[in-house]
This record gives sequence, C-alpha cells and structure tokens, in this order.
Amino acid sequence: MYDTDVLVVGAGPSGLTLATSLVKKGVATTVVDRQAVGANTSRAAVVNARTLEVLDDLDVSRRLVKEGVQAPRFTIRDGRRTLIPVDFSVLPTEYPYSLMVPQATTERLLLERLTELGGTVIRPKVLTSVTQDADGATATFEDGDVIRARYVVGADGIHSTVREAAGIGFEGGVYEESFTLADVQLRGEAPVDEVILCWAKAGLTVVAPLPDGSFRIVAPVAESPEDPSAEFVQRLLDDRGLGTGRMVVTDVIWGSRFRIHHRVADTYRAGRVLLAGDAAHVHSPAGGQGMNLGIQDAVALADALAGVLAGEPDSVLDDYSSTRRPIAQQVVEMTDRLTRLATLPRGARPMRNAAISMAGRIPAVRRALAMRLSGLVYR
Ligand SMILES: Cc1cc2nc3c(=O)[nH]c(=O)nc-3n(C[C@H](O)[C@H](O)[C@H](O)COP(=O)(O)OP(=O)(O)OC[C@H]3O[C@@H](n4cnc5c(N)ncnc54)[C@H](O)[C@@H]3O)c2cc1C
Repeated sequence: MYDTDVLVVGAGPSGLTLATSLVKKGVATTVVDRQAVGANTSRAAVVNARTLEVLDDLDVSRRLVKEGVQAPRFTIRDGRRTLIPVDFSVLPTEYPYSLMVPQATTERLLLERLTELGGTVIRPKVLTSVTQDADGATATFEDGDVIRARYVVGADGIHSTVREAAGIGFEGGVYEESFTLADVQLRGEAPVDEVILCWAKAGLTVVAPLPDGSFRIVAPVAESPEDPSAEFVQRLLDDRGLGTGRMVVTDVIWGSRFRIHHRVADTYRAGRVLLAGDAAHVHSPAGGQGMNLGIQDAVALADALAGVLAGEPDSVLDDYSSTRRPIAQQVVEMTDRLTRLATLPRGARPMRNAAISMAGRIPAVRRALAMRLSGLVYR
C-alpha cells in the first residue's frame, strides 16, 4: 500500500519544479520541506534561456519574465578591457537573454503554479531516514510520521539526507576562499543589460543587474564578512578594477557569505531513490548555472518518473542519471576553469588575456560560450 507515488523531499527550486511538473502530469505527489516557510533571500539570480524553455510548459516562464530584468549580454573583462563579449540576443530561442531575478521570486512563482494545479508543500517536516525494498521506499520523519512511496526524490540540497540514506557518494572538494554575495545600489557605470565577469589578480568578480535597479555582486574573498558593508563591497570593486569612481556603492540591500563546494553525486539513482539539484551537484557560481541545472534536472526527472509510472521500462530512470550526471560534470569543470583563470598569478595574466581575447574574436567561440552559458547546448 502506498501513501503517494512520488515523495519529493525539499521545496527549493528543484523540488518545486519537480512537484509542479509531476502534479501537472497527474502523478500523485507529496512534497515536504524542513523549513516552516520558504527562504526569502535573493541567492541564485540568473535564470538562463534553457531553464525558461523548460519552464514554458509549466506556464512559469511568462511569469518570471514579467518580474525579471533581461540581460542579453555577458562579458568577460580584465579591468576596463573586454576580453570576450557574449551576445545571447542571436541565440535560437524565444528567450535570448539571461533573466535576472532573485531566487525568492523564482520559488514564489513555482509555488504559486504548484498551488494552482492543486499541489501543496507540507512544512515544517523533516525527513530523517529512507529505506527501500523491491516494491517501494519508506521515509521516516522527525515527528514520527512514516510515508510509503513508490519513489523518493532527494531535492534536499547540498547536505541531502536522502543522498546519505541511499549511500550515494558525493566526491569533490571545497574552494579555499569563501564567496561574498551582495545586492547593492550602485552609482556610475554598471550596465543594466549585461552580466560582467571580471578577472583580476585579487580574484573574480561578477556584477549583474537585478529587477529593482539594484546590482548583484559575487566575489571570492579570503575572509568574507558575514554581513558585508557598503565600504567592504566598494573596496572589493576598487581592488578588482571595477570601482575607483566607475562604480560607487551607495547601499547594501542584502549580503551574505558562503563557501562553495565542487562535487557531483556518484549516481543520481539508487533503486527507488533519485536525486536532483544541489543534492546531486554543487559548483562555483561563476557561470550562474547552479539553480538552472537543478530546475532542468527536475523537468527531466518528472518526465522519466511519469513515464515509468505509466508503464515505460524502468531503465528510463537509469537514463535520467546517465544523461544528467555528465552535464553536471561539464558544468563543474567549466565553472572551475572560469574561477581559476580569474586568479592566475600576475605574470601569467598577459598571456591569458591575449589568448582569451584572440579566442573571443572568433565568432564560433563566442557562440559556443553563449550556447553553454545559456544552457541551450544541453537541449
Ligand atoms: C547564500 C547563498 C547564495 C547563493 N548564491 C548563488 C548564486 O549567486 N548563483 C547560483 O547559481 N547559486 C547560488 N546559490 C545556490 C543556489 O541557491 C542553489 O543552487 C539552489 O537553491 C539549489 O536548489 P535546490 O532546490 O536543488 O536546493 P535548495 O535550494 O538547497 O533546497 C533544498 C530544500 O530542501 C529542504 N531540506 C533539506 N533537508 C531536508 C530534510 N531532511 N527534510 C525535509 N526538507 C529538507 C531545505 O529546507 C530546502 O528548502 C546560493 C546559495 C546560498 C545559500
């Protein structure tokens, strides 16, 4: 006897997308989350073209586009010098841009759609263990409840209880530096339609527009403060060739620090247990890919689960793991390269810049980068 077909653990962007997609397909789905209310902070702010394409079917993209700001350009710079300009506006998609929108808005719109379709999130409800047998999986909760499901999906983030319960390894490491993240008000030269990734000896810095006229700054820093001040962020921009009168920080709206792991789960499937999102992969935020990959996992997994529940062979769940996992490995490698290239020693930088700007003059290279950053290469 089953309480539900699919138990989704975690109502972040991956779990909400998975649940919305499953409910839309008519699959009996239960979603739980340990937090009493959803997180309301900005966090992942880039929604790429491929994510908007896959969320189209769920009728979420048009809502996101209404609330976000469109950035059709992405540039890699060294100080004032543009090394590679990437133009998303020429891409073959209905969404030829990065959509900048705070993660809290993305989660709110996904939850709104899930609710419209009749779904709900049970919270606070903390999963403590999962066991499985040939017919199903049994989830146990902190409050003593037990839920029996045909399948359990761990969309429960980097410290996934589901992943650990299934004994799935999560190989990789942690970057030495922590990252400062700040949503700020800026005066000066920051463009409102472009995401800038700036390389400097002091490290990589991302500057990106947000919908309310503010800007997102992300940068690896040896000792990030827990709550970065305007002075701290200004110094950071100055040290990395973006400040000194060009960009003036007038206010910090929200700030945080976080440590970045680079890890990929050994498999996304162990019998009746599956993984999606940060539970399956984490990496540097350099290319703005994290949440996007998770949402795209979720849509692929919803198709696979609905297929199996409708009688398709069980192997489609293996296919989910074997197609999505290499994509995460590629993203971990790309974002690692972008992060490390930013911090080359001074002596190596002229050669790096010459090589990158030469590559940046080749249209095919710019297009390949655009296809990768927009996620369209993974269609
Ligand atoms: C401060 C910060 C800044 C970030 N900035 C960026 C950025 O700039 N760019 C970027 O791409 N990414 C960024 N990220 C990462 C991004 O937020 C994640 O990639 C994204 O949230 C992953 O979504 P998810 O749904 O897979 O997992 P999560 O959003 O982590 O959601 C997991 C959910 O599972 C729930 N949960 C966990 N354990 C249990 C349990 N045992 N029982 C029940 N529920 C459980 C949690 O409460 C949570 O709601 C940032 C993250 C943080 C914390």
